[in-house]
Amino acid sequence: MINYHPDQHLLSLHAKGELPLSMSIAIAAHAEFCPHCQQQLDQMTIALSEQQFEQGDVKNTTAAEQHVEFDDLLSQFLSSTLDALDTDDSVDSVDSKATSQPEIIDNSVTIKGQHYPLPRVFKKQINASWQGIGKVSRLRLDTGEPQARASLLHIAANGEIPDHTHKGSELTLLLAGEFSDCYNTYKPGDFMLLDQDHEHSPKTTEGCLCYTIVDAPLYFTKGISKLLNPIGELLY
Ligand SMILES: [Zn+2]
Repeated sequence: MINYHPDQHLLSLHAKGELPLSMSIAIAAHAEFCPHCQQQLDQMTIALSEQQFEQGDVKNTTAAEQHVEFDDLLSQFLSSTLDALDTDDSVDSVDSKATSQPEIIDNSVTIKGQHYPLPRVFKKQINASWQGIGKVSRLRLDTGEPQARASLLHIAANGEIPDHTHKGSELTLLLAGEFSDCYNTYKPGDFMLLDQDHEHSPKTTEGCLCYTIVDAPLYFTKGISKLLNPIGELLY
């Protein structure tokens, strides 16, 4: 059961395509876990496309004319698709297109002997390799944003991250496993956006994989030890 969701504002920005890539990945991945948010995104997308229609040239045409236009467009689209299929020499490939079998993608990561399938949105986003210290490993995503730092973060069983606060906001989307902090226990799909006023130290018993976005370096608040600094480096 997912308890933490992106708010309406974030969902609508995502539907409009106005979020930076790092955050868009988080919303899309959450929606793959969460039928409720997926449905809201679908509704927002339909509403936005209707608005686009109304603002366009079609506003001077009647509803009946719009239907004709749409029907024409659909016919054009279908005939061009069929033309494309006709040019295909192999009957087999036409058949496979017609049945629209899902594309088989290797979209997963392996860390410390654990294999994790990833949400579809991560396809082509994973280009780096893991870096790690102790139980904490990180794989950076290159989203081309100078401020936000997006990563996959893996914490092995019985691992924890020292207490920390952050200068900016920190997003965590749990992809697999579980973790707890002083606020709650989180399950796959949970979407947590913490601001700088929060302080937390996540712990996991069974191990977990998260997608995280940090837009400012993390500052450790308790028992600051030079030994821990490399973890700070790793996280931000
Ligand atoms: Zn949701």
